[in-house]
Amino acid sequence: MERTFAIIKPDAVERKMAGKILDRIEAAGFTIVGMKKIKLSTAQAEGFYYVHNQRPFFKDLCAFMSRSPVITLVLEKENAIAAWRELMGATNPANAAEGTIRKEFAVNIEENSTHGSDAPETAAFEIAYFFSQLELV
Ligand code: ATP
Ligand code: MG
Repeated sequence: MERTFAIIKPDAVERKMAGKILDRIEAAGFTIVGMKKIKLSTAQAEGFYYVHNQRPFFKDLCAFMSRSPVITLVLEKENAIAAWRELMGATNPANAAEGTIRKEFAVNIEENSTHGSDAPETAAFEIAYFFSQLELV
């Protein structure tokens, strides 16, 4: 069993699509072991996305991620990291495969509805950034 970290981003929560996305997550066999709705500050978004801090889209991305609440999740499944990225689809919904969450729900390359960790080290960092051990059940 592996754990990954996921976010239902502001664009999806604002459009009341969180329930549909959670349904897709459970239908794909993930167990939700942690979940909370929070509103990030700009500084918290910047800390979360620090690997992108030299990218031209960094400031906009952090403004987007902190403009309204998100739902943070820890998901468990065999090969959870790769399986969740596959279910999300490509970063840009224009390139996302049929049947993926970003294809169905995303607005554009920035407002792309969900986040997923990209490796075991980033999953560990991102889970610990938002959850304590006691909150994972
Ligand atoms: P995430 O890390 O959110 O799961 P990802 O791993 O598919 O997405 P990254 O390259 O890590 O993509 O980019 C992080 C986030 O930054 C993207 O999900 C998207 O919201 C935003 N982003 C990425 N590329 C661009 C871009 N060219 N223009 C605007 N926003 C972008
Ligand atoms: Mg990424």
